[in-house]
Amino acid sequence: MTKSELLNSQTQFNFEASLEFARSMDEQDELKEFRQEFILPSKLRGKNGESCVYLAGNSLGLEPKRTREYINEELEDWADLGVEGHFHARHPWLPYHEFVTEMSARVVGALPSEVVVMNTLTANLHLMMVSFYRPEGKRVKIAIEKGAFPSDQYAVASQLNFHGFSVEKHLLEFTPRPGEDTLRTEDMLKLIEDNKDELALIVLGNVNYLTGQAFDVETLVQAAHKAGVVFGLNLAHGAGNLLLKLHDWQVDFAVWCSYKYLNAGPGGLAGCFVHERHGQSFDLPRFAGWWGHNKANRFKMPDRFEPLPGAEGWQLSNPPIFQLAALRASLEIFDRAGMARIRAKGDKLTGYMEFLLQEIAAQAAPGYLSIITPAGVANRGSQLSLRFQGGKGILDKFKDEGVVCDFREPDVIRATPAPLYCSFEDVFRFAEVVRRFAAEGK
Ligand SMILES: *Cc1c(COP(=O)(O)O)cnc(C)c1O
Repeated sequence: MTKSELLNSQTQFNFEASLEFARSMDEQDELKEFRQEFILPSKLRGKNGESCVYLAGNSLGLEPKRTREYINEELEDWADLGVEGHFHARHPWLPYHEFVTEMSARVVGALPSEVVVMNTLTANLHLMMVSFYRPEGKRVKIAIEKGAFPSDQYAVASQLNFHGFSVEKHLLEFTPRPGEDTLRTEDMLKLIEDNKDELALIVLGNVNYLTGQAFDVETLVQAAHKAGVVFGLNLAHGAGNLLLKLHDWQVDFAVWCSYKYLNAGPGGLAGCFVHERHGQSFDLPRFAGWWGHNKANRFKMPDRFEPLPGAEGWQLSNPPIFQLAALRASLEIFDRAGMARIRAKGDKLTGYMEFLLQEIAAQAAPGYLSIITPAGVANRGSQLSLRFQGGKGILDKFKDEGVVCDFREPDVIRATPAPLYCSFEDVFRFAEVVRRFAAEGK
């Protein structure tokens, strides 16, 4: 049995398409009390006042109730203490980023020394490429997924250009076979093997934002390293969603944002992972700033940069405290729930959505609805990417019913039941709306 078959066989749930069944699943749900920790958007009700079914947590996660309190605490301490807040705030600002390090490390399967929260995602991706994209001799190419998130494409292209290379000649793309939407591991391995002398770096999104596909990172990292290639991950859709083991998998670096599954609010701060084996590589080129400098003498204002060991050594600036406060509120929820339980619930929740939608698709007119995201819990997180015959227009019809999904060009509707605040009843309600639309030919 392959790893993915094994994982599939463990998730043969006996689902039923009924409201009673959905409610009984909610009853048995170990994580059900966490829904109360979040604010459901009150202005996104359906046209008949139905409460919102929020399936857009892959795009912007919901606000935890504690967030306001945590940010207010910092506003009060600033009012009361002024500059002294750096040392005497209830959570002193000087080491504030450290309050989210261990919780972030647990979310992505890393050692605390391998993780830092700083900047935003694309900025961190650039900082990582400055250090880990080191073209030399023939080994100059970068490989990404075809149709990677635009910001990743721009970042990678500009790094190539910065080093005097071009997208046309030096960018390789992992590409699905004709007629397929998602990538096959064997094809990805072949691209690595075929380019093993010229490939310098792989940057992969895990999960792919458009298709919802999760990749077999462990296998790919092994192949990359065997070929002498550095392996970086963009976890914008992975952090807080998948069970990750960045340290054990030997990923070289990773970056992620915190406003999607991690519920840290719009523009929330990003995470950055640098594997332990690079943490003491002080000769790696890096773009430096004072917050990455040795804490012991940072305020003696020495004129030579002395990087901190580990991921912290890549920091530039003193961080935005209000955003860190929001992240702290959210990560505490992740810590209490635990990623293993979150993913276990997510597999059932998304499995239930898949079950219901497959049944509807089988009864609807041919081609009305198809699921792009691969089957099997090893190949995805919580997101299902869907194609509806009506295309983007269906989004507004969903909104009228209080169902919030999102759309990505060219023709993909993304529906994500985030396990911390979505229920089986939410999934059932969504499916009932789809069932009705399919019957009405909408
Ligand atoms: C959301 C997302 C981004 C966004 O980048 P920011 O720098 O946070 O604006 C980048 N890449 C991927 C894959 C994403 O999903």
